Amino acid sequence: MMWTISPNVQRLVLSALAPVIELLAPPRCGICDCEGALLCQACRALWIPTRPEPVPATGLRAAAALGPYEGGLGTAIRTLKYGGVPGLARELGAALRPAIAHVARNAPFQATLVPIPTDQSRVHERGFDHALLIAEAAGLACGAPVAQLLVRTRPTPPLHTAHRDERAAILDGVMATAEAATLPAAVVLIDDVRTSGATMREAARALHASGVQWVAGVSVAYER
Ligand SMILES: [Zn+2]
Repeated sequence: MMWTISPNVQRLVLSALAPVIELLAPPRCGICDCEGALLCQACRALWIPTRPEPVPATGLRAAAALGPYEGGLGTAIRTLKYGGVPGLARELGAALRPAIAHVARNAPFQATLVPIPTDQSRVHERGFDHALLIAEAAGLACGAPVAQLLVRTRPTPPLHTAHRDERAAILDGVMATAEAATLPAAVVLIDDVRTSGATMREAARALHASGVQWVAGVSVAYER
């Protein structure tokens, strides 16, 4: 008798085993693929800056990123999300510390780090929520609280294939604050890639609508 395992079950097993696989396999660099560490010293020196880059603060008090998506940061993000290496989120999240300090320097209160909510079908597919993992690692590195305050009000198609005007329509009203969430006065939004700034603007709109006064944003990379 042949056993057939449904793709859903395969995914469940793989995502349950991911931490074990990560422990057993020698780590490889998420950018150059050399063996030894999730981000090797050479790639760290080349792609992870000590000073963040300010980016246009569309609807936010301030915004910053580590650097452009083209190059090592984009490779690391793709390895994390599509190559199934959640451990890279720890490295990228911790690297956000100076960027968070930079945007939060004028915050009137201690800022809570809030990940941009990921579409649930993508979380299910990958077995992890990359933005949440990055925010948690950043919170640990900064000693800042992390809270998943935002939810998506409907599923959305992937944004990177959508045209700029389509994006605005896709994102319009797509986020809301989670029911029963206790809202902080100041928030730093955390995302992987900033494209037009429309996602951060929508997140800030939802937070402001619920009474959050001060919102800034940090992403790992920006697209030019
Ligand atoms: Zn490397």
